[in-house]
Amino acid sequence: MTAPAHPVTPTGVAPLPQATILGYPRIGRRRELKRAVEAFWKGKISEEQLRVTARELRAATRARLVELGLPATGGAVPESFSFYDQVLDATLALGAIPSRFADVAETGSDLASYFALARGDESHQPLEMTKWFDTNYHYSVPELSAATPLAANAAALVAQLAEAAEQGIESRPVLVGPVTYLLLAKAADDAAEGFAPIDRLDEVVAVYGELLAALAAAGARWVQLDEPALVSDSLSVPRAEVLALVERAYTTLGAPAVGAARPAILLTAPYGDSSAALTRLGALPVEAVQADLVRGTLPEEALADGSLAAAFAGTQLVAGVVDGRNIWRTDLRAALALAQRISDAGIATVIGTSNSLQHVPHDVADETKLDARLASWLAFADQKVTQVATLARGLAEGAAAIEAELADTEAALADRAGAPGVRDARVRERAAAVTSADRSRADEGARRDAQRGIGVPELATTTIGSFPQTTEIRTARAAFVRGEIDQAAYDGFLREEIARVIRLQEEIGLDVLVHGEAERNDMVQYFAELLDGFAVTENGWVQSYGTRATRPSILWGDVSRPAPMTVAWSAYAQSLTEKPVKGMLTGPVTILAWSFVRDDQPLADTAEQVALALRDEIDDLVAAGITIVQVDEPALRELLPLDADRQAAYLDWSVGSFRLATSGAASEVQIHTHLCYSEFGEIIGAVDGLDADVTSIEAARSRMDVVDPLGDHGYSRGIGPGVYDIHSPRVPSAAEQEELIRIAAARIPGEQLWVNPDCGLKTRGYEETVASLTNLVQAARAVRGA
Ligand code: GLN
Ligand code: ZN
Repeated sequence: MTAPAHPVTPTGVAPLPQATILGYPRIGRRRELKRAVEAFWKGKISEEQLRVTARELRAATRARLVELGLPATGGAVPESFSFYDQVLDATLALGAIPSRFADVAETGSDLASYFALARGDESHQPLEMTKWFDTNYHYSVPELSAATPLAANAAALVAQLAEAAEQGIESRPVLVGPVTYLLLAKAADDAAEGFAPIDRLDEVVAVYGELLAALAAAGARWVQLDEPALVSDSLSVPRAEVLALVERAYTTLGAPAVGAARPAILLTAPYGDSSAALTRLGALPVEAVQADLVRGTLPEEALADGSLAAAFAGTQLVAGVVDGRNIWRTDLRAALALAQRISDAGIATVIGTSNSLQHVPHDVADETKLDARLASWLAFADQKVTQVATLARGLAEGAAAIEAELADTEAALADRAGAPGVRDARVRERAAAVTSADRSRADEGARRDAQRGIGVPELATTTIGSFPQTTEIRTARAAFVRGEIDQAAYDGFLREEIARVIRLQEEIGLDVLVHGEAERNDMVQYFAELLDGFAVTENGWVQSYGTRATRPSILWGDVSRPAPMTVAWSAYAQSLTEKPVKGMLTGPVTILAWSFVRDDQPLADTAEQVALALRDEIDDLVAAGITIVQVDEPALRELLPLDADRQAAYLDWSVGSFRLATSGAASEVQIHTHLCYSEFGEIIGAVDGLDADVTSIEAARSRMDVVDPLGDHGYSRGIGPGVYDIHSPRVPSAAEQEELIRIAAARIPGEQLWVNPDCGLKTRGYEETVASLTNLVQAARAVRGA
């Protein structure tokens, strides 16, 4: 079957080729960009040298994409490079330099001023960073007021287009779209009361119009504008209004003034379900619209009754059928069938990814230590590009043309389904036998009484778990991983480190101690390495923000715990002191959120298995004499679906899995949890629902903003709003921390209140840590004594 030919040339441009991706990882296969940028920051290489490295990386990416099967011409290859962040790039393309940076960055065209916005300098706080939709990628938040300048600066985009042309590739510039840009921006501190960045939509659209004209003049045939705001219910305006704003913006952008040229526009709606908006998006004066068909669905009714096709007459639909959020091989037959249904409805169909591939690692072939069988089930960015190209061929020439690939995938999927470890009967029987009684503890009053024996004072002081990860710790770990020191030597080193940290906390005078987490490379990977059902990668880096990348573990099979994971370290720490030492675990939701999780069963089912493993760990900790166990869930909010309709179900299973992990603990055992953010509004009921005896939470930067909602909610258990902002080396004075404790104490009864930093101390140095904690203890004592 051949796809129907559709005339898609309102601007006289040839249609987008039938295969494309929304974006590609940009840090480099071996994190070359990270190394070059950090060397530039340290003054070891010049701006020109950094630009050369970046140019080489971009050239290598384009060449690779063509090699993997994207057409070299017609705009199939996206230009998704960024030195740091794509939202920051848009800020510079718009010339929207916040007034507080006016002195450093007049044009933003030199890299020093670009990085000054991202990272701050002696005299400027950096732009705030926050999570990009429901991913673990963080972007630099634009700051706007009515006075922020706006002036198109297409230089970087035009230069990349020219580089591509030199390589013989017609690439497609990519920009965050105007509506999403403004909805992700915040009002600058100097903005007038009541100002919202979206108030400037028409002006910003005019600047985008200039950027498009500049790109057209430079020879761009296509441009991609990303509007993930279309799929989110978590923005400052309701989703229906986002759609209306997008219509307003693109009606203008699509119909430039007489005589002005523009490239054809691909408008994308990644990261979620745009089905309710799709017909209206198809009717806009743009040449292609992308829909995420992994997270999202098709508007079936409109597809069946022809109204979708009518809206898409003259517009291509990029079917995002290859998952850009995960690392599993696509079920090619199902993906082809989905795309074929769209095409059969008379819509010009392009095969694409659900979102940019920036959230997956480069290449499975770079993994030398993964089990070969597991590797055969995986697809990183490069494999996904091949899948896109294959599906496009299948759509153009019929399924028979790609029968070999379809059969090969099918065999891999069947192999995966039947492989040992993917389904473990014992794990499944146990999960099936879970009852609601397994998710509840005695009532909190009884627990409070039972826990008096632990002996913590009012306004008890504690930390969140990790102590500074020093160069010595990293060096010892690296030596152990390389086999240069043996297990006994490494364990001995860690025991000394734990003993040192315990002594230090006693000297400082903290009430509830921690062992310091020196043995953990990462709060998820540490557990992934010890649990069955997980694998870890060598080169599976994914950008978290700027030059920071993480290596998520792969959760591929049923999860169980072959042996205790933390008990020896915690018991050793407890043996050194009379004070209680907290056992320290990462919760089921966070373990899932920061791993690549199997896609063959609901997340909820996987979370239950992780919870049962943690439940056993808590039992063992308690049996070893631990009386307080902290189960961290910093990612609880991150996984909250963007789609309001799906939030209740999520909160239900996520809270349920935490409770399953912790409810085996007797009343005498105090369960703590830790959350890393201060915007509570949407999930306060869920936080309460965790039923932890004590919850520590980030609060210092927002000056205890969390306290009021908690008070209003009638939160009745222990709460530790952070009084020490650990995100910078700055040492908060005792007076400053005392003031924060008093703000909290005015709202929360003293017997509920704990005193702790915002988060773990692993990124801090010892000098500032000791000074800050000493002040923290002094502040708590001052408030207690009053
Ligand atoms: N216990 C962890 C630590 O202190 C918590 C880290 C986190 O909240 N991200 O490092
Ligand atoms: Zn934290």
